[in-house]
Parts: sequence; C-alpha cells; structure tokens
Amino acid sequence: MQINDIIILLRFELADYFVGALFDRVNSGNVRVAIHYSAKLNFGQVVDFHPAVHLHFEIAHHRSGKNDVADGTKPNNKDLCQEKNGIFSNVTDFRHLQPNEFTMQFFDTHAHMYAEAFAEDRIACMERAFAEGVKMVALPNIDSGSMVPMQDLCTRFPENTIGMMGLHPGSVKENFEEELGIIKKELDKGGFHAVGEIGLDLYWDKTFFHQQVEAFVTQINWAKEKKLPIAIHVREAFTELFKIMDEHCDERLSGVFHCFTGNGDDMKKALAYPNFYLGIGGVVTFKNGGLDKILPDADITRLVLETDAPYLAPVPFRGKRNETGYIKLIAEKLAEIKGMTVAEIADQTTTNARKLFKLDE
Ligand SMILES: [Zn+2]
Repeated sequence: MQINDIIILLRFELADYFVGALFDRVNSGNVRVAIHYSAKLNFGQVVDFHPAVHLHFEIAHHRSGKNDVADGTKPNNKDLCQEKNGIFSNVTDFRHLQPNEFTMQFFDTHAHMYAEAFAEDRIACMERAFAEGVKMVALPNIDSGSMVPMQDLCTRFPENTIGMMGLHPGSVKENFEEELGIIKKELDKGGFHAVGEIGLDLYWDKTFFHQQVEAFVTQINWAKEKKLPIAIHVREAFTELFKIMDEHCDERLSGVFHCFTGNGDDMKKALAYPNFYLGIGGVVTFKNGGLDKILPDADITRLVLETDAPYLAPVPFRGKRNETGYIKLIAEKLAEIKGMTVAEIADQTTTNARKLFKLDE
C-alpha cells in the first residue's frame, strides 16, 4: 500500500480538542491514526514524536459527527475556529511547506509582541509565527508601563518567550531615577534573560542626553553583576555609545546591538567587543538600507535575527505593522547576502541567539 498523507490525531490535554499532525510526503495513500497524547503542547510546537520524525502540529478543523478529524480541509464550521480556553483561534494549513521547512526554527531576538498594536489579535499573531517556525521570541522591556503586558505574554507562552528587563533610552525623562528604581526591583526578582532594551537615542530628543548616559551606565553595571547580556538600542548616537562601551565593557559584559543599522566602521567597532552580536532586522530588506553592502564582511556566528515588531516591518510589509512571524523574510534576505540557504541561516542564528541569552548554560 502506498501511503501519502498520514494524519495523526492527538488529544489535547487541556481541552476537548484534537490536534492533528501531518507527516509530510511519507509516501502516498490515506491513513488516519487516532491516538491520545497527554503532554501539554503549544499550538505550532514542533515535537520529537519519533526520533526520526518531526511533527508539526495542526489543529483539527473539520468535525464530523461525534469525532474530530484533522483532514486538511478548510473549516466549514465557524465555531471550531474560535478560541476556547485560549488554545487556538486560527487555522493554518501547513501542506505548502517543504519537508525541511517543517524543522526550520527561528529565534526572534527582539519583538514587542506585548504592545498595544497587537491588542486585537495577539494570540493569532503568535500562532502565525509558530506556524512559520518561530520557536522563541525575546521580549524587550521599555519602561514601568510595559512590564505587566510583557510579563503577561511570557506567562501565556512560557515555552516560546523570554523576557528582558530594562529602561529604554526613549523613556528616560525627568523621573528616570524613579523608573530605574521600579525596573531594578523587578530585575531583582529574577527570571529575566537580559537587561534591555537600554542605550542611547538622540534621534527624537537630545534634552535628556546626560540622563540617558547615566541610565545606560547604571544598567550596564546591573548586567555585569547579574551576568546577564544587554540589548542595546542606539540611534544617531554611535560615537557617544562606543565611548561608554570602551569605558565599561569588560569580560563580564555581553549582548546584542539590537536592530543594527550602522555603517561598515560601526560594524567593525561593534564586533570588536568580543561577546557581542548584531541584531539583523527588517532594515536588511530595505532598498538603500545599506546592510547588504557591509554584511558580507560580518562573521555569521555573530549575527542574530530580530523583527522589532511592531516596528520596521520587512519588505513587502514596509511601513505596515510588523509581527514576529515575518522573521522568515529577514532570514531569506540574509541568506541571499551570505550565500547560504534559509535553513542554514535559521540554524546558525538560532544557535547564536541561544548563546547570546545563555539558554544552554
Ligand atoms: Zn525594541
């Protein structure tokens, strides 16, 4: 017998739903196997079900009589697509993917998926990202106002998100000492994977430059004490920022230049700090973004991917709301620049990102 699609139905522990998994191109035919699986699974999670096979989970979206059937058809009953107990809200058909794409995993090292811009469809956005192979999303903090939504999202997706804690230079105002106090208290509770995002921003406002410097240095010192990496935000301020880094960077400090957009000299200087990475985002896809000219000289082991969602959406979504699921567009462009496959870029940048956030230590 020729086997084409094997569809396995898995019972989701938390609710009375089945999730189905597709083996891609096993052979040909129609075999359906129904089993019960009791582990907690996130929608879109890739699971080692059999040592040799990665399964990409798909929600059951066709119901016949008493039984749920994941048969790859489009839903014919709206209520099956509605979110219940927060488990799923959307239906995704994975059959267009190539077999190697089933196992491709991305690490978005910088995305504000907790932001107000996603108030309407946050869960659906996250699910879309999982369907695109996003395995991990690092959430940078902005100020005391973003702490709760950021941590709520971490609680919602504990396997697929990590949180940072820090005060963004754009939020450094008259009350920055009070803000730093709140941030430090939160940071001391533990559970964060970086101090971020922190740095200098002279693009919008130079009024609080000295306060920005003070906040940056203070937070660098916290990172050193806690052995955490820093996520650096720098805009129109490379000269000033490098000056601070030269003074304060030692072997205890590591991190990432988030959304790197400097020139070739800036890149050399940034990569001269031994434990630092460059975060490559949507700008790499912009015409005249300039990164395509300098990135051929960057060591691939020093690059990580990021979306910076909801900002800086890659082409063809430039100017629109960005979301973490667009990371593949950035990976595709980087693959082109580096003469590598997208799967190789996904692999290498994920390895780099895990090192950056010390996830395997
Ligand atoms: Zn950011």
